[in-house]
Amino acid sequence: MTTFQSLGLSEPLRKALGAKGYEQPTPIQLQAIPPVLDGRDLCGIAQTGTGKTAAFALPTLDYLARNAGPPPKRSARVLVLSPTRELAAQIADSFRDYGRFMRLSVATAFGGVPINRQIRDLVGGVDVLVATPGRLLDLIEQRALHLKGVEVFVLDEADQMMDLGFIVPIKRVHALLPAQRQTLFFSATMPKAIADLGAQFLTDPVRVSVAPAATTAERVHQAVTFVDQREKPALLALALKGSKIDRALVFTRTKHGADRVVRQLSACGIPAVAIHGNKSQAQRTTALQAFRDGRVRILIATDIAARGIDVSGVSHVFNYELPNVPEQYVHRIGRTARAGAEGMAMSFCAPDERAYLKDIEKLTRVKLEVAPLPENFVESVRSLPKPAAAKPEPDQRRPQGRPGGARREDGAKRNYRRRKGPVGAHRGAVKRSG
Ligand code: AMP
Repeated sequence: MTTFQSLGLSEPLRKALGAKGYEQPTPIQLQAIPPVLDGRDLCGIAQTGTGKTAAFALPTLDYLARNAGPPPKRSARVLVLSPTRELAAQIADSFRDYGRFMRLSVATAFGGVPINRQIRDLVGGVDVLVATPGRLLDLIEQRALHLKGVEVFVLDEADQMMDLGFIVPIKRVHALLPAQRQTLFFSATMPKAIADLGAQFLTDPVRVSVAPAATTAERVHQAVTFVDQREKPALLALALKGSKIDRALVFTRTKHGADRVVRQLSACGIPAVAIHGNKSQAQRTTALQAFRDGRVRILIATDIAARGIDVSGVSHVFNYELPNVPEQYVHRIGRTARAGAEGMAMSFCAPDERAYLKDIEKLTRVKLEVAPLPENFVESVRSLPKPAAAKPEPDQRRPQGRPGGARREDGAKRNYRRRKGPVGAHRGAVKRSG
């Protein structure tokens, strides 16, 4: 059994790992730490939840511990690029945590918060800077930061960077980095475009992978319920009321969809909070904190906002809307069943999402178990509090007198309304391309 001791990490890190109660390295840590300690470049395929943050943070901190010295002014010795603010904040916290017995300065740079504080933080230089690409370039343009001092460059979640259109900014960052450096490149999936990107940054890298690119987390119990779009709010409310849920993460495809689910749940007496790109950084942080410390058990999120978020004890993931990119499904359900726990991933599939489901099943090579609608679904729906029928949301306000007012609040979009037939009549029968 390999332990952290045998990996040869320096004393302050072993102490920090002991304090955290980590006994054994995870597979990605086992594979990545030794070559990174040897100074090699690394190309890693690993999802969040595998322990990949420590896989790059520990050997990088070890390098700093063994090569102590002041960071150059207005620069950083280690630069980590992350696609989202939340993930950047989380990675910075991990560095602080693992480096707590070292002299270490860690700063973050991401949008949504005033830039001045970040400029001040960088004046004297920092050991570790965790940044999102846009704000990093802003700081460089304002001459608050240069990258000449970077000795280790970590690019995390490369596939997500690409999805978010960060390729040009990343290439600009790359052009500013010193040629002499160590580069660690991580991605949950490694399609050709990402591999090509990695090839531009890496020199003779060691390749490590903890799971085939699109393997679904093994300990997650996955199921799908076929349900009409307009029935989804009721199904979610019933599921959240009925199951023993410690913490649930509910995914929607759009920001407005996330807000709508919060309102619908609130109308049924179920408190929930949302995070997505239209929320201010302060709102996102507050919502995430409430979810982390258990004050709110239900977090509604879009893919981008939730990517990489590490909250332990997420018992359920609900795919309220199926993702149109099948890889996102893998990322979503990776939020549950962490660190040895079991998890449950429930997908709600409307008729026009069947094609998405097919893509997901093809990618994961898992045929999802079908969970039928609850026996008494129609009666249960009737017994739910009528969601705020008297208070149309400002963005949904329509002329009065439209028939089917009770359904208006369920978020059904125009194209769903057009569909005729009794609730649930389509079940299992309709096949539409998504
Ligand atoms: P990550 O994939 O970096 O997001 O890590 C997922 C979770 O696993 C985080 O909560 C880490 O704190 C935790 N973790 C990382 N390495 C270990 C380890 N060797 N033993 C136990 N937990 C770990």
